[in-house]
Amino acid sequence: MSAVIISRKEDFAAIVSVTVLASSSAGNCALVSAGDTRILVDAGLSRKETFERMAAAGADPESVTAILISHEHTDHVAGLPVIAKKLDVPVYISRLAAPAIPWGDYIPKLELFQAGTRFPIGCIDVNSFTIPHDSVDPVGFSFHADGIKISIATDLGYLPDSVRFQLRNSDVLLLESNHDLEMLKVGPYPWSVKQRVMGRMGHLSNDVACNFVRDEVDARTSTLILGHLSEHNNHPEIVRLMATQALKGPSLFTRLVIAEAHRPTEAFIY
Ligand SMILES: [Zn+2]
Ligand SMILES: [Zn+2]
Repeated sequence: MSAVIISRKEDFAAIVSVTVLASSSAGNCALVSAGDTRILVDAGLSRKETFERMAAAGADPESVTAILISHEHTDHVAGLPVIAKKLDVPVYISRLAAPAIPWGDYIPKLELFQAGTRFPIGCIDVNSFTIPHDSVDPVGFSFHADGIKISIATDLGYLPDSVRFQLRNSDVLLLESNHDLEMLKVGPYPWSVKQRVMGRMGHLSNDVACNFVRDEVDARTSTLILGHLSEHNNHPEIVRLMATQALKGPSLFTRLVIAEAHRPTEAFIY
């Protein structure tokens, strides 16, 4: 029995995979793996919740080799100090964003990077790129391993050409589809918050995300994950309907996934 389990682990070590553990305005965390390298991307859930979701997704928390942070907003770092202390792994973060984290009494081993640079984490090549968002030094990422490209871009007010360029030709793309404009306009937020969300340093609407899907997602993107949905100003079925209509032509066979706040996606394995 144990021999079978060891064999399965060895098989797993040879593949590239991504699991979105949580994606919403309330908490964000994903797991990107290749070989023995396992990167926790953002840490917006509590340690307990993060570890429970990893276990549910079939991943041992102790196998995480690094934590990578996109920006310092609470929904991306709420669990970071506790998780980093517990796992005792390096935290990769932009050198400008690092001082904005409420570390408390324990500062983990920091690997500071310049936004816009490319660097290795284990056997994964990580490309960071600047995104327009109202935090200190926000970045999106693309991950390259064994010829597979996984891209993550949430928390951005619009899609500049430079970001569109970074997201093209991804095998897996996690893109923000934050709000339905009409729901946001009539929703519960104060006007100042609505303006922030809609602004060029805020969050992507369903319209902008789905226009990108229609115009620029092609057949290479076998899995499209739309995420960071607002719990108050969006509905998964609206996103699913709009994105399904946008996935036409060469991207007709792209698998569409709407990431959820309360449970992980399956592991997308390559
Ligand atoms: Zn966020
Ligand atoms: Zn943010």
